[in-house]
Amino acid sequence: MDQGFTVHVSFAAESLAQARERAVMYVEALAILRPEVSLLDTRLSRGDLWPLGEPSFCGVEGPDGELCNDVHQHPGFHSGPGLGGLSWGDGDPR
Ligand SMILES: [Zn+2]
Repeated sequence: MDQGFTVHVSFAAESLAQARERAVMYVEALAILRPEVSLLDTRLSRGDLWPLGEPSFCGVEGPDGELCNDVHQHPGFHSGPGLGGLSWGDGDPR
């Protein structure tokens, strides 16, 4: 039976906003190489404050059950997976 495990990756960024963008890029790259890695379960924290982490991805559910794959607390519409994926919600188009 498989068990759940977590890997912590450290990196530098100039701001929380930049750290969010980088965290999503790193996870998306890893998920391309290893499909068993779950995108939406990843979290971002400052330094070693891992228990206080926030989600890396938005994860809001769309009208057809898809989950937003954009950065946590992003502006504008939510967007489904893939290029040209469905957009939904309130906000300014990007
Ligand atoms: Zn979203």
